[in-house]
Amino acid sequence: MKKISLLGATGSIGLQTIDIIRSNPQAFKLVALAAGKNIEKTTEIIKALEPELVSVQRASDAATLQRLFPKVTFTYGAEGLVEVATHPQTTVLVNAVLGSVGLASTLAAIKMGKTIAIANKETLVTAGHLVMKEAKKYNAPILPVDSEHSALFQAMNGENPKNISRLVITASGGSFRDKTRDELKNVTVKDALNHPNWSMGAKITIDSATMMNKGLEVIEAHVLFDMPYDNIDVLLHRESIIHSMVEFDDTSVIAQLGTPDMRVPIQYALTYPERITLQQGKRLNLAEIGQLHFEEMDFKRYRALQLAYDAGREGGTILTAMNAANEAAVAAFLRGELSFLAIDETIERIMHEHKTIVQPDLETILAVDSETRKRVADMIK
Ligand code: NDP
Ligand code: MG
Repeated sequence: MKKISLLGATGSIGLQTIDIIRSNPQAFKLVALAAGKNIEKTTEIIKALEPELVSVQRASDAATLQRLFPKVTFTYGAEGLVEVATHPQTTVLVNAVLGSVGLASTLAAIKMGKTIAIANKETLVTAGHLVMKEAKKYNAPILPVDSEHSALFQAMNGENPKNISRLVITASGGSFRDKTRDELKNVTVKDALNHPNWSMGAKITIDSATMMNKGLEVIEAHVLFDMPYDNIDVLLHRESIIHSMVEFDDTSVIAQLGTPDMRVPIQYALTYPERITLQQGKRLNLAEIGQLHFEEMDFKRYRALQLAYDAGREGGTILTAMNAANEAAVAAFLRGELSFLAIDETIERIMHEHKTIVQPDLETILAVDSETRKRVADMIK
């Protein structure tokens, strides 16, 4: 029985994690969860899985829920996320919260030696060096949930990392893959939220359309697998059947394939090194699919991907600035305050202004994160 703490329980990854836990009550127990503002879904999850500890974003919501569920302990805010992540009974933390807000709780759980199943890629982008250093120090395994990184992780299983020559991360191309950059001038929020292959939260769906998601994933791969940026490639693959590939020194390539379903990498992170049946999983039928397509990445068309490689190669606080600028710009786009192309432009301006500090500590990272968000808000005004 694995005892789980789940951050971001009411989100896209969070609810699919809940689905896996509910389908396998003999294997998993949800001990603690954190949600944001969605109290209706939080209530449903509490009724179904009876966790001991629940955190929500706002104190008023915690008080309302406490009256409904007197036996459950409620907490809230940033400290609530840390409390849930570090619950003494928990052995596995699933971090599926959105954005760099997940950093402090990840570090706190690592210090307690918990296994971290990480979907929250912004944490690895903004402070990857700290997370990996602490994970090594406290012997806390970090297991990827992001489908590409799960694929890479599976493909390198049992291999000597020294023999890996290249990582190839596949990209579906997002909602605007058939549009030229010029055609992106007047696209709407509704158009951008219409992803061809995956149903995900709003922020990552926009990140997929700008290709910043792939940029964040290149950095995530560098952090998780200690691979130089020159040896990480991105390949456009519209069908999302090959989830990523590892190339070895002898030119062999090992890929992980499957029907696009985030429950596969989520469940693998929970059962690793075992595998269990995926409830209502759709088996891959390549004969039915017939053809798979691959195209080279266009870095001019997908400006954000180039910016992410640039930030990754520079390292230090520019990664935090880039990530925070992206989070703030995407939120502004979703509120209708920025045009689609202004997302890249905002990130580029922030990166241009930024004076990088190398090997930043946590305090510096948090300061750069909040300064960047303020700067983006001023730019929009
Ligand atoms: P969603 O927007 O669907 O969910 C985000 C979750 O985080 C919700 O539970 C939300 O709560 C909660 N949340 C947001 N802000 C706060 C806060 N300040 N305090 C507490 N809780 C908060 O996102 P996704 O599930 O799509 O993505 C989550 C993470 O997983 C991201 O880092 C994303 O990049 C990554 N990821 C997602 C994939 C996907 O298929 N969706 C695939 C690979 C990676 P509430 O809704 O209650 O307000
Ligand atoms: Mg991904």
